[in-house]
Amino acid sequence: MPIIGVINQKGGVGKTTSAINLAAALAEHRQVLLVDLDPQANASSGLGVNIAEKTVYDVLVGTTPARQAIFTSPEHNLKILPASADLASAAIELDATTENMRLLSKALIGVRPNFDLIILDAPPSIGALTLNALAAADHLLIPLQTEYYALEGIASMMDTVDRIQASVNPDLQILGIVLTMFDSRTRLSQEVEENVRKHFGKQVFGTVIPRNVRLAEAPSYGQAIFQYAPRSHGAAAYRRLAEEVLERVSQA
Ligand code: ADP
Ligand code: MG
Repeated sequence: MPIIGVINQKGGVGKTTSAINLAAALAEHRQVLLVDLDPQANASSGLGVNIAEKTVYDVLVGTTPARQAIFTSPEHNLKILPASADLASAAIELDATTENMRLLSKALIGVRPNFDLIILDAPPSIGALTLNALAAADHLLIPLQTEYYALEGIASMMDTVDRIQASVNPDLQILGIVLTMFDSRTRLSQEVEENVRKHFGKQVFGTVIPRNVRLAEAPSYGQAIFQYAPRSHGAAAYRRLAEEVLERVSQA
């Protein structure tokens, strides 16, 4: 029952879009839990969970067991552990002690057997919440926006990953890097893809996520792309990515 963290400390690179739609694509064949670790709660609202009585905040501070904060989503086989704005205070209250970094990992132990895969949507920073995601994950999926500054900040993030591997989570592996918001009409997108593939080789998924307005629209309807626009390029791309993810997870 692998846990996949969708992580990049940069904002706006496609983490939440990837977490939602990858989770939904995987849920076509598997039992999947999506954990929203971002106080902005975009993964929760993007799946139509707007007001939740219990959230991942209550789970992290230990007042609620995870199973009591898990909601059904409109997608078949996809459950969600939602976030809310009060998660921001958890990010501040929790010092980066080893004990605090293990809160999520420990909280998920009880529910892991109920799912084939757990996807974590991390916030855009390396704070307590992202550290909890790194400590809980078996695999990391790193979305890179196909733009000139795509690689900015990646070196420092890889350093953080190294530190986590050397301390709280020796089993942590990078499952792959996925290029997002690729615009086939621009040379820049092609150059960035070439550059990233040269730099990271086989770590880069073959599937590239195109810039597709349907992917940006779907969350406002509380739907993953497969309900909102099943025939879109975005839907096809996330289905292919899900296949690659399953292949890589099974080989790990
Ligand atoms: P992050 O979670 O890394 O901050 P998001 O997934 O929220 O990034 O994406 C940032 C913005 O870009 C959002 O408005 C989202 O709808 C949009 N977006 C993400 N991926 C795509 C895509 N492939 N095509 C078009 N818009 C996208
Ligand atoms: Mg996000």
